[in-house]
Amino acid sequence: MALTREPPAATVDPSNPNIVRWEDIGLTLIHNFITEEEEAAMIEAFHAQDPQKEGKRRISQHFGYHFDYTTFGASETHLTPVPSYITNFLPRLPIQTYLPDQFTVQYYPPGTGIPPHVDTHSMFDEALYSLSFGSAVPMQFRMSGPNDARKMRLPKRSVQRKSDENTEPASSPATAEQTQANAQAQDAEEQSACWEILLPPRSLLLMTGPSRYGYTHAIRPRKTDVIDGKTVPRQGRYSITMRTVRRGDEIGCNCAYPGVCDARIREEMAARRDGAI
Ligand SMILES: [Zn+2]
Repeated sequence: MALTREPPAATVDPSNPNIVRWEDIGLTLIHNFITEEEEAAMIEAFHAQDPQKEGKRRISQHFGYHFDYTTFGASETHLTPVPSYITNFLPRLPIQTYLPDQFTVQYYPPGTGIPPHVDTHSMFDEALYSLSFGSAVPMQFRMSGPNDARKMRLPKRSVQRKSDENTEPASSPATAEQTQANAQAQDAEEQSACWEILLPPRSLLLMTGPSRYGYTHAIRPRKTDVIDGKTVPRQGRYSITMRTVRRGDEIGCNCAYPGVCDARIREEMAARRDGAI
């Protein structure tokens, strides 16, 4: 489907043409953040640990502090040593005040993607980094809306059943046909609000501000992408997502996007349990 939105205006750093910024939304893309030699070493290290190269599903490897979904916090006991191919480039990260301590390396086989989502606000500091390598992939951004807020408030099980199925709450009087029509209308509406930026191999994406807290990001599952006007088959892509775990009193969020804010959702749930709503 053709996208109808152009990305917001970007500016190239006058002193470094590798750095492109979408200042209004706190998004930065740094081209050639790592060298081709570093990239080759990362791909080799990834597959040395996980040889299921030919699989069709996304494969993840976790390093640093693990996120504990039972306590909703960093697991202080569960720490996987961070490989040197990651620690080597950390001093080059543009925001040294947010040095990441949690790393997820992922392999996306050709054609695979990831549904639109907003990373948890309360458990990780503002700066989110994503290093891409292997092959280029377009990432879709969209300002979150009421449908995202509704999905994030669905019981966990129905969300996990299929994250983009647009299931209606059980109490909804809508018929299955209506539900499906609504879902298609929502999808079309959401698609028309999306814009994409190309993440070339060896580039580093930094999300802060609105792009971090208020926008969903996604990779559409596609066999081909249109890059510079040419249709090219999508190859395997790798990414390293880097986050800084919040601890103790730092856990929480006061962002301007309560619809997609996990801290606010937990407050709502607690208030409902206490009978305040
Ligand atoms: Zn928030």
